[in-house]
Amino acid sequence: MVKRDLIIVGAGPAGLSAAKIALEAGLSVTIIERSPMLGGQLTKQTHKFFGSKEEYAKTRGIDIAKILISELDNYKDKIEILQEATVVGMYKDYVLTIYQGNKYFKLEAKAIIIATGASEKVLAFENNDLPGIYGAGAVQTLMNLYGVLPGQEVVMVGSGNIGLIVSYQMIQAGVKVKALLEAAPTIGGYLVHAAKLVRLGVPIITKTTVKKAFGKEKLEKIQTVKLDDHWEYIDGTEAEITCDALCISVGLSPLHQLLSMAEIEMIYVNELGGLIPKKNSNYETSMPHVYACGDVTGIEEASSAMVEGKIAGLMAAAGLGNPHPNHKQLEKQFKDQLMNLRQGPCGVKIRQGLEKAGEAI
Ligand SMILES: Cc1cc2nc3c(=O)[nH]c(=O)nc-3n(C[C@H](O)[C@H](O)[C@H](O)COP(=O)(O)OP(=O)(O)OC[C@H]3O[C@@H](n4cnc5c(N)ncnc54)[C@H](O)[C@@H]3O)c2cc1C
Repeated sequence: MVKRDLIIVGAGPAGLSAAKIALEAGLSVTIIERSPMLGGQLTKQTHKFFGSKEEYAKTRGIDIAKILISELDNYKDKIEILQEATVVGMYKDYVLTIYQGNKYFKLEAKAIIIATGASEKVLAFENNDLPGIYGAGAVQTLMNLYGVLPGQEVVMVGSGNIGLIVSYQMIQAGVKVKALLEAAPTIGGYLVHAAKLVRLGVPIITKTTVKKAFGKEKLEKIQTVKLDDHWEYIDGTEAEITCDALCISVGLSPLHQLLSMAEIEMIYVNELGGLIPKKNSNYETSMPHVYACGDVTGIEEASSAMVEGKIAGLMAAAGLGNPHPNHKQLEKQFKDQLMNLRQGPCGVKIRQGLEKAGEAI
């Protein structure tokens, strides 16, 4: 088996940013991506991003993906990209099993960066498997990648940024968003996004969840219920809303499975979305030369995923004895950038999570 210098699993903002820095340092890089497209979540994000200039603020997610991909163009002789290739196994001997085109094969690496992102959480209620009930990511993929509407009259569950943004995108696409339900007493995402929905007449109903879905072949209506301060149903507060689609946006969980399979040390941190790898300040896990970055290390944003990816790429190169010519300066720059991104009220949960995970902020 030919041993690759560095294999990066996942070509979202974290994986692509890691690749660029590792290539700059002189490593040969293999990127493995299960989707036919490079860019991860960015490929379906038609809205303009917040943040700072370094992380492409005011640029649409889909355009950020194009920039990150084009940055790899100068390294054609040093980069190998496998698309529609899923890594299904990762072992302690630095071997990965890959499934591509109905075939399984193995690749070995001197160093590995796991940048697999996250998966959507589901909500438990009666009939939650009826056709017409989607995750918010699935709705974004349907609409923004394939031009297919999820339904005509939709109810959204979850008022985090994803729930708010996808609701707005559905309205832009001509869907009627009948209501947005939120189990907490307050809206979770940025108020600027919520205000747009309210102006467009979408009722945001807090302390309320879905109790049951109805429909013969597909979703026809839902039953909602109010929640008390302990998140228990309040009997007698049930109400019905007719809709042909329900969009669930109740959080993301890091896609940690490959790391767990290699018996890398993990820790459960609720604030960061669930099970994440323990890592040092260089984004190296408990397995030497295996790094993790982006949402797989805790749910944050594309901006922090890109910076974490750059740190992982920098450290993977140094770990293999190929330090980037500007290693010291870039390490300081990236770590300062990350600290700045996590400042302020929006970063409170992330700071708490990192503290629980025993990581410096
Ligand atoms: C609706 C929505 C709006 C958002 N808005 C913003 C915003 O305005 N600003 C912002 O900064 N962030 C935003 N985000 C968050 C941002 O998109 C994510 O934090 C970011 O994409 C995480 O980057 P990542 O590279 O870690 O993961 P991802 O982008 O999820 O990329 C992971 C990649 O790994 C691949 N992969 C996974 N498992 C395997 C495997 N086993 N084998 C091969 N490939 C694999 C996946 O196919 C994917 O391409 C938003 C997210 C959503 C869903």
